[in-house]
Amino acid sequence: MANDKNPIAQQDPELWKAFVAEQDRQQNTLELIASENHVSPAVMAAAGSLFTNKYAEGYPGRRYYGGCENMDTVERLAIDRAKSLFNCEHVNVQPHSGSQANQAVLLAAMNPGSQFGEAEQREKAPDAPVRTPGDMILSLHLDHGGHLSHGKNVNISGKWFRVTHYRVDRETGRINMSEVRALAKECKPKLIITGASAYSRIWEWDKFAEIAREVGALLMADIAHIAGMVAVGLHPSPVAVSDFVTTTTHKTLRGPRGGITMCKEAWAKKIDSAVFPGLQGGPLMHSIAAKAAAFGEALRPEFKAYQQLVLDNAKALAESLVAKGLHLVSGGTDNHLMLVDLRKGYPSVTGAMAEAWLGQAGIVVNKNMIPYDERKPMETSGLRIGTPALSTRGMGGDEMRKVAGLIDRALASAGDANALGKIRGEVLDLCKQFPLHTH
Ligand SMILES: *Cc1c(COP(=O)(O)O)cnc(C)c1O
Repeated sequence: MANDKNPIAQQDPELWKAFVAEQDRQQNTLELIASENHVSPAVMAAAGSLFTNKYAEGYPGRRYYGGCENMDTVERLAIDRAKSLFNCEHVNVQPHSGSQANQAVLLAAMNPGSQFGEAEQREKAPDAPVRTPGDMILSLHLDHGGHLSHGKNVNISGKWFRVTHYRVDRETGRINMSEVRALAKECKPKLIITGASAYSRIWEWDKFAEIAREVGALLMADIAHIAGMVAVGLHPSPVAVSDFVTTTTHKTLRGPRGGITMCKEAWAKKIDSAVFPGLQGGPLMHSIAAKAAAFGEALRPEFKAYQQLVLDNAKALAESLVAKGLHLVSGGTDNHLMLVDLRKGYPSVTGAMAEAWLGQAGIVVNKNMIPYDERKPMETSGLRIGTPALSTRGMGGDEMRKVAGLIDRALASAGDANALGKIRGEVLDLCKQFPLHTH
């Protein structure tokens, strides 16, 4: 990508500088952010293509603009491939992001209102008129691995709906299904949301479906992080037992930034009108072309081998970190990510300090709240670490063991610039051995 013949280099040197710097950063650092990946050259080409020029409001065969015949071809390909990949009855490939894929479900299935019940409204503002309480969502708490779009009070999902959260068990770090059942019986949710951004264990979709049936709730699975593993059968699929399944396309699925919303046929019309015209205008056709390209890749046997490598690498990395004396929430991982609990092992190091030190060493991770964290969200006591991006570079078990050692040394450095500089050199060597071929 970054070569001097690029039109951006020719016409906008100021902007081009950032492209060159970013290519250098991606090529020469170890990307361990669990939600990130490197797309293939084909997906990259589709994302930066002439499909960006076209308006295509509506759906294949029913557009509000002329000249959409090639848009229809591309969107139908994306739809058909997503259906084969996930075995779903209906899919909408237009959501611009994972959050919007989730909003489509809320708009299609839920009645908005006050985020508080009547009694709580009276207590908070005795003189204000009581508003209709919004429908209830039951979802995983953000600090326990959930996502903003699952009912956080600063997000539209938490402002327009009432929310109850289930949590992970303090001892095991795993979701306690009997607590989920008890909460569901108590709060009577309209919608139960499963899925997470920082949960390293297998989801028991069948048990959630049973609980949803018991309390008459709809069930939604947000597989944003684990979609790649679900697609190839290396994580159980929630599709058969859920009313809705949403995902981002840019995490383990290794496609362009974006989302999709899947649902049972009975919800197809409502989901489609929720995405357009409910939430969005024209679809990002270049992104949908890139989704089609990525889904095509995901249907090939090599993609299953890649997902297996992601899993094997996560296991190897987790075991090596534990062997170095680090503690992981729930003790390990069944998927592509792990959460380091710094309180044990490095009690004086916050997630923010760890993120900064590792960054100086060329190891990119994100600080993360851990369950029952006493520190604030800008500090945290945790680090979230994932293997999708390093696996895309072709790294394996030996490299994971090396990376675990580098991480542990960076945490033990107390921020010493010399120690971090030495690690940075070793990171560069590793990156040179496993160059990115994706841009
Ligand atoms: C990443 C993520 C999303 C949101 O994706 P955006 O594209 O950033 O809006 C939604 N849900 C979960 C569980 C996620 O991890």
